[in-house]
Amino acid sequence: MRLDKLLSNMGYGSRKEMKKWLKSGTVLVDGKPAKDGKQQVNPEQQTVTVNGEEVHYREFIYLMLNKPQGVISATEDGMHETVIDLIDPDYHLFEPFPVGRLDKDTEGFLLLTNDGALAHDLLSPKKHVAKTYFARIKGNVTEDDIEAFKRGVTLDDGYHTKPGELVILSAGETSEIELTITEGKFHQVKRMFQAVGKEVTFLKRLSMGPLELDKNLEPGEYRELTEEELVQLK
Ligand code: URA
Repeated sequence: MRLDKLLSNMGYGSRKEMKKWLKSGTVLVDGKPAKDGKQQVNPEQQTVTVNGEEVHYREFIYLMLNKPQGVISATEDGMHETVIDLIDPDYHLFEPFPVGRLDKDTEGFLLLTNDGALAHDLLSPKKHVAKTYFARIKGNVTEDDIEAFKRGVTLDDGYHTKPGELVILSAGETSEIELTITEGKFHQVKRMFQAVGKEVTFLKRLSMGPLELDKNLEPGEYRELTEEELVQLK
């Protein structure tokens, strides 16, 4: 790739500002001053330094966020705080976006990345990526609900869902459950319970595909995916 593109991608300024850096002779490629932004470099094989500091180039970032309630799953919102506002500005350079959406009042696992191809794969209905949620329900969740979710339920707009796997953790006037679904329709979990006459009062996503929410992450906290997690995801 072009040297000026690599440097501007890594936050060293615009291509115009790059010219100044390059002219000053403080940019070295494999130890040799580089003055032409058009010079092609391979960041995986060559060492680029600016003012003696090595530039560690990478194209993509992958962050696991424990989304707190009250925050919007979007990159921009005129009114409310977004998940991107929770992330260190150093990461903004990479222009991350959330992979899918959680409702404003839903907590839990949200992947932020700038890897469009991966996001597309994870969200593609054809890939049937499983998502598991913990929910608190107003009402007594029963075996009948397990069976109904297994068959799929009809939502308020007439859509019949794919099978969902419902596990009852506790039942009574309020119940606690885990539900795994392979789709991502608007308000899907809430509407599935609505379809069986019950109301979700708390919702948290626990996992997406092979990845589980890191229990060490408090709501609002995030971390980069490990190499291992990334391999699992791809
Ligand atoms: N289902 C919902 O109803 N809300 C979410 O945020 C995610 C899944």
